[in-house]
Amino acid sequence: MSDSPDTYGDEAEPDAPSAAELEAAGQESMFGAPEPQPALTPAPAAQPAVPAAPAQPYRVLARKYRSQTFAELIGQEAMVQTLANAIRRDRLAHAFLMTGIRGVGKTSTARLIAKALNCIGPDGQGGPTIDPCGQCEPCQAIAEGRHIDVIEMDAASHTGVDDVREIIEAVRYAAVSARYKIYIIDEVHMLTRNAFNALLKTLEEPPAHVKFLFATTEVEKLPVTVLSRCQRFDLRRIPAPLLKDHFAMICGKEGVEADDEALAMIAAAAEGSVRDGLSILDQAIAHADLGGDGRVSADQVRDMLGLADKGAQRDLFAAMLAGDGGALLDLIDRQFALGVEPLALLRTAMELTHRITIAQLGKDVADAISDDERQAIGDWAQRLSAGQLHRLWQLLLKGHDEVRGAPDPLVAAKMALLRVLHAADMPDPGSLVKKLEELAERAPVAAASAAPDAAPAPAPAAPQGLDWAGLIDKVEQSGQFRLSQLMHDWVRVISLAPGELVYALAPGYPGDATAELRDALLRATGERWTVTRGEGDAAPSLKEAKDAQKDAARAAVLKDPLVEAALAAFPGAELIDENPEARVANMGRNWRN
Ligand SMILES: [Zn+2]
Repeated sequence: MSDSPDTYGDEAEPDAPSAAELEAAGQESMFGAPEPQPALTPAPAAQPAVPAAPAQPYRVLARKYRSQTFAELIGQEAMVQTLANAIRRDRLAHAFLMTGIRGVGKTSTARLIAKALNCIGPDGQGGPTIDPCGQCEPCQAIAEGRHIDVIEMDAASHTGVDDVREIIEAVRYAAVSARYKIYIIDEVHMLTRNAFNALLKTLEEPPAHVKFLFATTEVEKLPVTVLSRCQRFDLRRIPAPLLKDHFAMICGKEGVEADDEALAMIAAAAEGSVRDGLSILDQAIAHADLGGDGRVSADQVRDMLGLADKGAQRDLFAAMLAGDGGALLDLIDRQFALGVEPLALLRTAMELTHRITIAQLGKDVADAISDDERQAIGDWAQRLSAGQLHRLWQLLLKGHDEVRGAPDPLVAAKMALLRVLHAADMPDPGSLVKKLEELAERAPVAAASAAPDAAPAPAPAAPQGLDWAGLIDKVEQSGQFRLSQLMHDWVRVISLAPGELVYALAPGYPGDATAELRDALLRATGERWTVTRGEGDAAPSLKEAKDAQKDAARAAVLKDPLVEAALAAFPGAELIDENPEARVANMGRNWRN
């Protein structure tokens, strides 16, 4: 998911290896040559015995177990096959582009290709091969990063046009010692436009002895002109089960015991990246060495990753679906107390929703960590509809974004999960729309019944059969539009009797209206009126009553469980009063504006 912790390292190499690590790497390993050992001044031989060192303090597994052959490159079989074919048929492109998330093996692949192209075999007679020997001088030099004709550069730190110009200058010269001169440019999307343009000239007519190997995490940032000149390999995220097996193999080689579940959790957290996974494994091993019997356990990895306990996660999910708000809040608090980040609560719920959706499609939940989990996911897949799952996802995603931006993530997580809880038991969108339409027709009724607690009594008193609205009508019909408006909008009736009006004015009206009202009523009715501005209980003006009614109707509609659910289901949706006039008319008022 989106915000994977970046702490596991970026595209850059791990820090310089410690002496102990270098020593370890220098030992005979079945992975061929050790990794680069730049400026290794004190010869390891100076300290022949290791035992003094406290149980291998720092290992950079990602470096130590970097793939040295294509066979070791896990999860990228399709790419390797294509490449093998190209080599066999001698149809190699001048430029290759490796794309994929960080830590998935792009630069490893680039180095392997460099080896494949320049390997001369143990006897010095070999040609390009998909199976570089790892023993000849070119193979070893490339593995150690010291081959003079294999130039690695990181565009993230060399984005200038000058660097590219240097390359282009050098391109003209034949390889010093190798078959091919190979430029590996990592994070190639970071090059400036000018740098790309300079590069492009070379790509258009590359000398036969030159190969470019580009790697990028953001292929969409590359100019089409460059893309079109590259053979492209999209490196896949490595599936969690494959990662888990890989980590198990490495633990075996390292002599480290690890729980199956622990490795599964690390594989899941790695999100398809070998290097991220190995960094986590590094940490896990260090923790295990420090705090226990050296065994990498599930509990410890869970703590380390701040992962929610899977069982607790499922309880939380279940409480949400069951509509049990109390239990939900308790579970959130408990998880938080255990150090689970509020954001992770949303994320794991999303993950679960996703897995249930997958299971519903009949796919195996391959990365389920335990039988319990597989069982629970299967049950939910049967009980929940596809529509429910999709809404669940939407709500959780919205909640996730809210939590991320919230000043108090815990509160935001509670609110978001409670909203999901309230909306979890909804009909599917089709029937929801239908019911909303019915509701719209029912709205006036709902409004009327909800009005009392939301608004003052709407209709002015009509003592002795006198009708205030009718009186206003008469004033309007007599052509006194301003006055009828005034009566409609501002006049609050205290008492109304034939020939006698006691009134108040709605707040905000400037001055007094007594004389005007008296004249208007006289003109409209042909009778003399006693008009008094008074105090006491006044009915709201007609306008005030209508406004209140509108608000009440809106409140009633908003309160309807269906609408509540709909608004929750379509986050950001608003209730729009499509036709206020019609609605006012529906409410039984017959006032014409
Ligand atoms: Zn070789």
